Amino acid sequence: MTAVRPEVARMIQVTGVVQGVGFRPFVHRIAMRHGLAGWVRNVAGTVEIHVEGDAGQLDEFEIALREEAPPVSRIHTLRMEPTDALGAEDFRITESADAEGNRPVPPDVAMCERCEAELHDPGGRRHRHPFITCTDCGPRYTVIESLPYDRERTSMAVFPMCEPCRAEYETPDDRRYHAETIACNACGPRVWLTGADGVVLGEGDSAVREAARLMTAGRIGAIRGVGGFHLACDATSNVAVRRLRHRKHRDAKPLAVMVGTPAHAREIGVVSRAEARLLAGAEHPIVLLARRPHSQIATSVAPGLDWIGVMLPYSPLHHLLLEAAACPLVMTSGNLSDEPIAIGNDEARDRLAGIADFFLLHDREVLSRVDDSVVRVVDDAPVLMRRSRGYAPLPLRMPVASPEPLIAVGPHLKNTFTLARGDAAYVSPHIGDLDGVESLAHFRATLERYRDLFRIEPRVVARDLHPGYLSTRIASDLDLEREIVVQHHHAHVAAVMAEHGITDRVVGVALDGTGYGDDGHVWGAEVLVADLLGYRRAARLRYVPLPGGDAAAREPWRVAAGYASLDPAVAPAFALAFEGVTDEHRAIVARQIERRLNAPLASSMGRLFDAAAAVLGIRRGMSYEGQAAMELESLAGSRSAEPFDMPVTEEGGLLVVDPVPLLSALGERCQRGEDVRMLAARFHETVIEAFVRVTVRVADAEAVRTVALGGGSFQNARLLARMRQRLATAGLRVLVPRQLGPNDGAISYGQAAVAAALLARSG
Ligand SMILES: [Zn+2]
Ligand SMILES: [Zn+2]
Repeated sequence: MTAVRPEVARMIQVTGVVQGVGFRPFVHRIAMRHGLAGWVRNVAGTVEIHVEGDAGQLDEFEIALREEAPPVSRIHTLRMEPTDALGAEDFRITESADAEGNRPVPPDVAMCERCEAELHDPGGRRHRHPFITCTDCGPRYTVIESLPYDRERTSMAVFPMCEPCRAEYETPDDRRYHAETIACNACGPRVWLTGADGVVLGEGDSAVREAARLMTAGRIGAIRGVGGFHLACDATSNVAVRRLRHRKHRDAKPLAVMVGTPAHAREIGVVSRAEARLLAGAEHPIVLLARRPHSQIATSVAPGLDWIGVMLPYSPLHHLLLEAAACPLVMTSGNLSDEPIAIGNDEARDRLAGIADFFLLHDREVLSRVDDSVVRVVDDAPVLMRRSRGYAPLPLRMPVASPEPLIAVGPHLKNTFTLARGDAAYVSPHIGDLDGVESLAHFRATLERYRDLFRIEPRVVARDLHPGYLSTRIASDLDLEREIVVQHHHAHVAAVMAEHGITDRVVGVALDGTGYGDDGHVWGAEVLVADLLGYRRAARLRYVPLPGGDAAAREPWRVAAGYASLDPAVAPAFALAFEGVTDEHRAIVARQIERRLNAPLASSMGRLFDAAAAVLGIRRGMSYEGQAAMELESLAGSRSAEPFDMPVTEEGGLLVVDPVPLLSALGERCQRGEDVRMLAARFHETVIEAFVRVTVRVADAEAVRTVALGGGSFQNARLLARMRQRLATAGLRVLVPRQLGPNDGAISYGQAAVAAALLARSG
């Protein structure tokens, strides 16, 4: 007679990123640890677990399931119900039962610590192997051809595993059990080095060492990475950095730097605890750090800015390269100016021929273009300025599920698109500005991949209100059943609401560059009373003519001329804006303003920053979007300052904020010789004060207690942090962008959230 032990059985279903991330071996390990029997298997996008055994051990198992899940996995839901015990004797990993469903594709993950240790272990099979991975780390999205995620459907398919690798792959308690990207020095991809002429200069380890040597000698390299090519050079050499800028046609826009270790990052920038975590996290984004004044980094890396973008090596190849170079490297997207990043060996040789002196190549194909992600810590929490490698293609949730599969095509600049099904929104990686055949092709190719991978066939398209955007043409070319048009700043506000799961009315503060308004003017500093279904404009900046239209966005003195035209009495205060501008140009601009020829009216915060930089004599022309605003922010630093007066008037129920007295005060004081850094700080405080005042007024009038902050101007950390604090102090709940940037990268997600809500309402 044997005593019957109280055996309990449970069926557990886990959804999220749980396939291709070592989840089943993990479940196997913890089941063994707790002496439980049963099985685990993949079913469509979920993992199903049957466990039975001692009730106490089962509870422990559940805790371990949540708390010890593999670093690459993301558990979205975990459902559990009692079931009948099967009398199982052991715990097994059973074969996948294939079926349809939402199947998240894991993002690319930086090399883990254990793989790093192997990289440096002279006795190991993977000593100095540039493609070490395991189930916890390595490329995913960029090597996956199609689902289900198996080696044969990745770009690793052409590398047959050697016997020792296969043995690891097939052993359940090995950390490379079913690691689809498994490889070693015997069977993995190869690295080689060529000159600009294509002549091979080295292979394997010597190629890596020679590439590093060339960079320390001032050369520029094209280096094939995870999501595409980088252009790289010695970040401590002004000569090398200037040469790279000249060849890439990138004058002054800041360049990212890769450093070998966290200690090196601290030599360049001030690293808070939150920033240290980000730098070393699974995603390894570029982190914008407060720059140390006298570091070894060449001034030409980020001219005029008090911060610098830093990342740590995230692939084994990067580690080897940084060690050999022994200096920080500029690592910028492998492209000419604003074109998409190059991914193929031939493509790179073709497109980067005039830029790179050498090419460090490998034969693991990159199937998806993915730029490095960019994160900035504001108020101790990360804000994703660019959500790409390491994050995409993980889905974001939407607060209202869409009854129809849909696509939101995004805006014109900093484009992303979003494919959505139900409440899952698959936001594409950064596509870039849609103004060339190259970026259009990039958009189409990425969309194709997303449709394939997630098996979403959209029936509805959401697009921007702007009739002339290329994205608007893309939308009409898709020729879908239904088109939903979303105003740009409504999309900004909706994106912030949606990532926080909010559907109730909010006061949305959109401070931005430009977006097409529903009155046909250029909007960009808007206070909207909004929910996902619609909005009412409650406040804006005073309209200013932008002489030259798009040219005004590149030449701040034109915006200053526009503002000066609003009140002839203040014109002398604007004098610094026009130094060095020819009389002829000024006359053309005056005519444009007077006759309203190519001088659209705008209420843009971005342009107000430009005008301020111009009247302070800081910048009259710009070499990249946002330059004047970024330099103003850097000049202001963190010094506290008194705001100037910014009058608010009411025009037919709409509050209008007038910045002319502010610009005039800045110009006058600057001409009297006041410290421009203090004036930059006072400019910030004036804008913050005025928009806090207006926002509180609107919130009170509408009895709304939640505020959402969005729009490209909130990339300015001072603006975002101070407005959040001030509004919170006023008793409001403040939502800020975290998972997607404040900038136009979030627009497609906002469009999708609005479209889903509209579709759900109309049933
Ligand atoms: Zn690893
Ligand atoms: Zn091998």
